[in-house]
This record gives sequence, structure tokens and C-alpha cells, in this order.
Amino acid sequence: MTIASASSTATHIALTTLFSAVQDAHLLNSTAGILGWDQETMMPNGGAELRSRQLAQLARLSHETFTTPKMGEYIAAAEDAVRSMPADCADAVNVREIRSDYDKATKLSSSLIAELAQTGSQAQHAWVEARRESDFKKFQPWLEKTVKLNILKAQCLGWPKGGEAWDALADYYEPALTAADVTKVFEPLRARLQKLLDRIRGASKKPSNAFNEFALPIDSQEKFVRYMAKRIGFDFNCGRLDRSAHPFCGGSHSRDVRMTTRYTETCVFDALGSTMHESGHGMYEQGLDFAQSGLPMGSAAGLSVHESQSRMWENQVGRSMHFWKWARPQLSAFFGDACDHFTLEHLYQAANVVEPGLIRVESDEATYNMHVMIRFKLERDMLNGDMAIKDLPGIWNQLYKDYLGVTVPDDRRGCLQDVHWSMGAIGYFPTYTLGTLLAAQLFEKARKDVPGLEDGFARGEFAPLLSWLRKNVHSEGRRYRLDELCRKVTGEPLSADPMMRHLEAKLLPLYGLE
Ligand code: ZN
Repeated sequence: MTIASASSTATHIALTTLFSAVQDAHLLNSTAGILGWDQETMMPNGGAELRSRQLAQLARLSHETFTTPKMGEYIAAAEDAVRSMPADCADAVNVREIRSDYDKATKLSSSLIAELAQTGSQAQHAWVEARRESDFKKFQPWLEKTVKLNILKAQCLGWPKGGEAWDALADYYEPALTAADVTKVFEPLRARLQKLLDRIRGASKKPSNAFNEFALPIDSQEKFVRYMAKRIGFDFNCGRLDRSAHPFCGGSHSRDVRMTTRYTETCVFDALGSTMHESGHGMYEQGLDFAQSGLPMGSAAGLSVHESQSRMWENQVGRSMHFWKWARPQLSAFFGDACDHFTLEHLYQAANVVEPGLIRVESDEATYNMHVMIRFKLERDMLNGDMAIKDLPGIWNQLYKDYLGVTVPDDRRGCLQDVHWSMGAIGYFPTYTLGTLLAAQLFEKARKDVPGLEDGFARGEFAPLLSWLRKNVHSEGRRYRLDELCRKVTGEPLSADPMMRHLEAKLLPLYGLE
């Protein structure tokens, strides 16, 4: 054996040893993914207590498997092996990201991990009941416990000098994101959105909302949105679409993606919007490299990039005139002649009505980010001790008045509307807005790169956009961080300008404000 081939064999052994150990640990997470999906879709109420223990056990086992000293040795050996490789080749990226995950994970004890998982599962159950009864007090002790555990988690992880606890938690959802970064984006964005909303409020022309108040049978809606998901590119051989109270996309790996939607009889857009959204997440998962499953190169880049995929299919595609030119004639196959009296203009207008409201997931494109900003402010204040948890409903309601000019009538439509904090997900919300900004920026670039992209939507051709996303985003796994990916693909740092251009180009004519 020559020296070169001996060293390449050693490199191969170091990498495969590490990668298969990491993939083994990940199998436990992917199993938890199916149990988590089942909890939201199929599990009877009686299953809740033991399910929380099952999930806690899997979280603990996965954590223990991933944080053994042996894993540390495998990583060190693999780092030696990739030293001479280009920094952005797949093997080097895998080793770099595994190191980062390992260093984070080893700062947390497996008992804390299990307690977070069990509390998350129980608190979620308590939240469902509190929400049903619109009674924050029933959820308050669970939120207090969740915040306390998250502060503990943040303290174990640590944060850069000058930062705060929120930064340590956000890093899990969007690597290296800080509250200071978010504030820099949110403050000017709030002012720009406020200006746009003020103009829309004062407009004399109002788009028709009639299609949003038109009842259609839920069975037919279900067939319709499944067809739409398939046509835009969601692969039902490698995924499912079921119902849940809160739409989400989860599952196990790129060949078993579980997404959900929900149906409202009086508004097909509710199911269509959430299906387009979750399909965007689902197609991202399906576009990840299966051979790299469980490794960073086979994983999503972060939650902002994930959200950019869902928001693009929901907004840039699903609310566009081009899309509706194709979609309108499809309606008769599912709803007979019930929708015939709605013109293309009616449908397009209903998809784009702006109306400041109470519920984030039902909000339009122009007000959506305001909902996110409110949550960011609140979770930061909860962690920093600037707000007592018992005061959450009152402060929430005040912020809704300040940001959106709406009066919150009860906790169900106020501070109990989102599942995130009950699951222990604090530091998550801003990724929704960052993803929304990235969606607009990526879409501008896709439009430049693919001539006739939107004309294709009008013919029901969505594969060119999906291929562009597969090549530029999905196949990259965790090779680049949010800002790096944005610069690499679009040539510019992440900016709010493309989203504001997208909103103004659409909404100003719709409201007669040009
Ligand atoms: Zn989403």
C-alpha cells in the first residue's frame, strides 16, 4: 500500500466512523419525528401522558448517544482527516457542523434535555385545554416552568459578550442569530410596513373579500388542496398530507415527510394557503440528499431558510395572478359550478385582501410580520425578566392595539393562539420574518434566472421553480448559514427591500394607490 492510499484509507475510516455514529444517533430523532406527528394527528387524548414520557426517553437517548466521549474522539479524528480538504466540500461541512452541534449538546445534561422534552409535551397538552377554554391562567404555570427551563438551558449554552439569553436559544433555530441582529431588521421594517398599512387603510378602493366568505364542502376542499400540493411538486410517494388543529410539516426524513393542513368550511384559502405553505416546507425536506440523511449535508440550513421555502410557495406563487389564471379553471373539477360566478379578479383580490387581525396564521402578507414582531418583543422580555408571565395577556393585548390597531377579545384569540411557547420553542418566531424576507429575495433572483417563470405558473408549470430551488437551496444542506446562502445565491446580503417591492407592486394597484 502506498503512503497516499494508506492516508486516504485512514481518512475514509475516520469519516465513515463518525458519520455512521451520527446517523445512528439521528435515527432516534427521526423516530421521535413520527411520534410527534402522531401526537398531533392520530393519537387519542388518553395517549398524552405516556407519549410525553416516550418522547422524553427518545430525546434523552439521542442526546446521550450523540454526546459520548467516544463521539468527541471520532470528531477530532475526522477534523484531522478533512484538514486538507476545501472548507465547503461535503465532508468538511459535515465535520464542521457536527462539531458545532456536539459542542452545543455537550453543554446540556441529558436530564435537562429529558425535562425540556417532557415539559414541552405536557405543557402543549395544558395549552390545548387552556386555549379551548380561553383561560390563560390554566397555562400560566406551564409557561412559567417553560421559561425557567429555557433560561437554564440558555445559561448552560452561554452567549457571546454583550448578548442575552435569547441569543443562546435562537442559535438552535437559526445559527448565530442574535436579538440585536433581529432588532436591526425589525425596527425599520415596522416603520415601512406601518406606512404601507396606513396608506391601505386610507384607500378608497377595496378588493373584494367575497370568495373568503364562500362556503365549500370540506371533502371537496381536501381533494382540491391535495391536487394542488401534487401539482406544485410535493411527492406523495415520499410524504403524507393529514389534518391537524395547527398545520405543520414534520416526519422522519426526506422520503417520509408528514405535513398537515386544516379546513374551514367558509374559506378554502385557509386550507389552500396552509397546504401551499406546508408543501413548501415538505418539498424542501424531500429535496434534501437522502444519502446524507441524519448528517448536516442532508439537513435543512436553518428555520429561516425553511420558512423562505414555505412562504415563497404560499405567497409569491399561491397569491399571484399567474397562479390563479391556472387555478381558477381547476375549481370546477372539485366544486362543480359553485364558484363559476367568481371572476379571476375576485379570486386574486380575495387572496390578497389586507385586514389587520388577531390571528397570525390567518393574517395577510402586509400584517404578518407585525404579529411576529410582537412575539419577539414578548419572548425577549420574558427571558430577560422584564415582564412577569402573569402579565402576558394584558401586555399582549396592548401590543396588538399599538402595532395593528385591533382589540383582542379573549386569550384564545390573544396570547394562547400559538403552540410554540408551549413546546418550549423560544427564539423561534423571528425566523418567520427572516424567511419571508429571504423568500422575496430568492424569488426575484429565480425570476431573473428562469425566463418566463411566472408565465409558466399560468400554465400550471411549477417544476422550473422547484428545480431552481433544488439546485440553489435544497441540495446545499447546511453548507451555508442564512446570510452566506443569501449572498451566494442572490449576490446581496439579506434585505427587506425585495419583500417591500413585492408587497407594493401587488397591493398599491389593488387598493388604487398608484
Ligand atoms: Zn412555516
